[in-house]
Order: sequence, then structure tokens, then C-alpha cells
Amino acid sequence: MNSDTTFKISTDGPEATINFGKILGALLKGGEVIELAGDLGSGKTTLMKGILLGLGHKGDVPSPTFTISRVYKVRDGLELHHFDFYRIHGVDVVTSELAELLDDPASIVAVEWSSNVGEQALPKERLKVTLEQGMDLSQRSISVKSTSDKFRYVIEGLAK
Ligand code: ADP
Ligand code: MG
Repeated sequence: MNSDTTFKISTDGPEATINFGKILGALLKGGEVIELAGDLGSGKTTLMKGILLGLGHKGDVPSPTFTISRVYKVRDGLELHHFDFYRIHGVDVVTSELAELLDDPASIVAVEWSSNVGEQALPKERLKVTLEQGMDLSQRSISVKSTSDKFRYVIEGLAK
């Protein structure tokens, strides 16, 4: 994979992850699909808080772990759909709900634990965000990769 389709950063605490998410969220135009990969506690929901701030959302961002998905009405008439498949395994009703959203240019879809429903639930063209704990307890390495040219503008925006 070409290195300019991936942006990497390391954060030293939750606030820094939120700040990075804010920058990422500000670059979104609608129609993006964001896969959030990383172990439990790696910071996926924390990053979502930042992404939602960058989209103009002011309220809480509870983890959707017990609700499967949450919808936020954000700036420019966009909706962000936050899914969490931590407790879901291959449930068709959820994947079809997801499928309907994927072609909607006014929706942004962000998914935690998509591996539980299978790779095929997500389109090939997506932003894959991977979070990993670093050497330090409060350190996270975050990589954002556009799996095709489709969302390359996000990577370019982050690199600026
Ligand atoms: P996930 O959704 O991946 O399970 P959460 O975002 O819910 O993870 O939780 C991440 C936890 O790690 C929070 O308790 C947060 O305070 C803590 N944390 C420590 N350092 C960081 C960091 N650099 N970035 C994000 N979260 C961090
Ligand atoms: Mg989470």
C-alpha cells in the first residue's frame, strides 16, 4: 500500500485522542465509512467523541455497546451512525440496516468491532482507523488508512 494513503499519529492521553478525532471529524463531507479497529480500551469510543465534536455535535457520546447503534444529527444536514458490534455476531438484521446507509451521501457510518459481523458487512472502500496501546499506559498509536482513493482527501487533510 502506498504510504500516502495512511496517516499515523501517536497520542499521550484521551484528550489528545479527542483532539485528533476533532481534526478528523472536521474533514468529513458525508458518505464516509469508518472502521474503528483495536482492542477493548484502545480508545475507539474516545476517538468517536472527537470525531463528533469535529462534526459539530456538542452533547454526550455514550458507548453504543448496549444499543448496537446511535444516530447523531450533525452539521450540514449530515447524520453520523455509530455502530458497536461488540456483542453482535453475524446478525443479518444489523448488517442490512448498515447496508442501507452505506450508499447515502448524507450519512457517515462509523463501526466498532466490525470483525464480529464479518468483513463483507463493510464496503471495500473505507477509512480504516486502527488504535493500539503504546509503551506507555496512556499512549495510543492511531493509524488512518484509506483503502482506496475514494477517501484520500481525508488522509491529505490530516497530513496538512
Ligand atoms: P474502546 O471503545 O476502544 O473500547 P474507549 O474509548 O471506550 O475504548 O476507552 C479507552 C480508555 O483508555 C478510556 O478509559 C481512556 O481514558 C483511556 N485512555 C488512556 N490513554 C488514552 C489515549 N491516548 N487515547 C484514548 N484513550 C485513552
Ligand atoms: Mg467502544
